[in-house]
Amino acid sequence: MASIAVCPGSFDPITNGHLDIIQRGAKIFDKIYVVILSNSSKAPLFSVDERLELIKAVTKHLPNVEVDHFNDLLVEYAKSVNANAILRGLRAVSDFEYEMQITSMNRVLDQDLETFFMMTNSQYSFLSSSIVKEVAKYNANISDLVPKEVEIALKKKYQNS
Ligand code: ADP
Repeated sequence: MASIAVCPGSFDPITNGHLDIIQRGAKIFDKIYVVILSNSSKAPLFSVDERLELIKAVTKHLPNVEVDHFNDLLVEYAKSVNANAILRGLRAVSDFEYEMQITSMNRVLDQDLETFFMMTNSQYSFLSSSIVKEVAKYNANISDLVPKEVEIALKKKYQNS
């Protein structure tokens, strides 16, 4: 049986921390669907289409990675692409409680879908989309934190705001 994983998130925007998890995951799973869940209560900076384009651009070197979006329950998306795994990244203990909650809930909704966690690369343990947006707003150098395409997109956003 092929191992197919769904890697869900807001990706607003995708950072080097996300990309590291996707790249490492792509060596383990036969296929990964990176999926933007657009049902989150957070007000995003980038539209779903903008986020899709950015993720596609920065994962184009990974042939077994596909990018998509969805605004219903993750387990439904997973079923629709025959995925048997969910892939998430873990940064710090502070991520743990939240991740445990959604993992348990997803298990109630679908017992056959296993969640896998990968520890962040230590250089990205402090990195989140929110932090990147916060510092980008003040024109700080973010070239080590996000791919070039994202750096350019963030500059444009804050120039026009
Ligand atoms: P969500 O709003 O669902 O947490 P995010 O886009 O913030 O979506 O994150 C998606 C996934 O990527 C989550 O599993 C998150 O823990 C993981 N992630 C985010 N930043 C990093 C990072 N710097 N290193 C490793 N994993 C990360």
